[in-house]
Amino acid sequence: MSKLDERTGFALQTRDERGERREKLVILSEGEGSSKVPVLCVKDVSVAFGFEKNGNPRDGKQPLQVTDRVSFDIFPGEFFALVGESGCGKSVTAMSILRLLPWPSAKIVNGEILFRDVLGDVDNGNESARDLVKLPLKELQSVRGSEIACIFQEPMQALNPVVTIKKQLLEVFKFGAVSKSAQSPNAQSKQDSALDLIREQLRLAGFTDPDRVLNSYPHELSGGMLQRVCIVMALLPNPKLIIADEPTTALDVTVQAQVLAVLKDMAEKTGTAVLLITHNMGIVSQYAHRVAVMYAGRIVEEGPVREVINHPMHPYTQGLLAAIPESHSDLRTLSSIPGSVPHPKDFAQGCRFADRCCKCAQASAEFREKCLSTELPPKIADAEHFAYCFFQTNGKNL
Ligand code: SF4
Repeated sequence: MSKLDERTGFALQTRDERGERREKLVILSEGEGSSKVPVLCVKDVSVAFGFEKNGNPRDGKQPLQVTDRVSFDIFPGEFFALVGESGCGKSVTAMSILRLLPWPSAKIVNGEILFRDVLGDVDNGNESARDLVKLPLKELQSVRGSEIACIFQEPMQALNPVVTIKKQLLEVFKFGAVSKSAQSPNAQSKQDSALDLIREQLRLAGFTDPDRVLNSYPHELSGGMLQRVCIVMALLPNPKLIIADEPTTALDVTVQAQVLAVLKDMAEKTGTAVLLITHNMGIVSQYAHRVAVMYAGRIVEEGPVREVINHPMHPYTQGLLAAIPESHSDLRTLSSIPGSVPHPKDFAQGCRFADRCCKCAQASAEFREKCLSTELPPKIADAEHFAYCFFQTNGKNL
């Protein structure tokens, strides 16, 4: 547990403590131990929809499974991207981490989500992990926002339109802090110190005049500014992980890069890991360290970004990469993957990409039979880079 800030009495670390923490996290993320100590470990998580309040299937019908044994690890200080088309199960996976799925309809029916307090491990010399799937709601509430924060797609909807930015950012300090401190005789000085920290963070987020932002209402700021405010809000409690669910989709293309650069820069400064949900391979190639590609509720490929971009193994990843428009290309038609992601009720037992796969369409009858069977595609691996496909290639020959 981080100490209360001496000046504010709030659960914040000082700049020195943050620097110290970053150093430890960098050592963890770059050193030998990094491969052994992920901050988040999602193991075989399956989510299904169609439950009643009592946990039984609605109307006695079989619940619809939308994600299937999703697994990935995120290491301290890492920018990890989950990529895929709309309807692939990216957001459902992200929301399942903090159990923010619609209740009672959706439920995690399989797997575990282990969240490790990495600093605690380093300081205490032992490893402890909490399974967020089984964590009592009261304990989970203390993880939400303070240890794992979220940045959503629509900043305008994430902020209260009738409350100033200042009040909303100060709320972060009250959450999880000693509430009595607000009534204590020196509450005013505590608030001033908190505001100093907020101003410092706003400057880091690229605001040259933090007070103007603090005194504004959300409708007085642009979408890009609001999303940067949301980034500041998410980082104020010094979380170990930020889940950014399509944080730039609602923004103008010109400010997308600015917002992502702020997120990456600020997360790096504090050593916070980021789970970025996106459908944009261009964003992944620019900002992420590792990427997992999702299709129809399953992870189909995962690896370091450079490897996945340069040598994609799975035909779906190849299709996504081919669909990135190039400004200097002579081609008049943009490349696309034919068809669309199937509805979960139509998910195949075997390879779910088979009906859209160009490799399968061009293959021999014998090969096609395998792809269209109920057999799960095998894992093809090349060091840390792997995919699930019958097409046995390391991608380098394609
Ligand atoms: S298993 Fe077959 S159908 Fe599926 S992605 Fe690989 S080649 Fe295509």
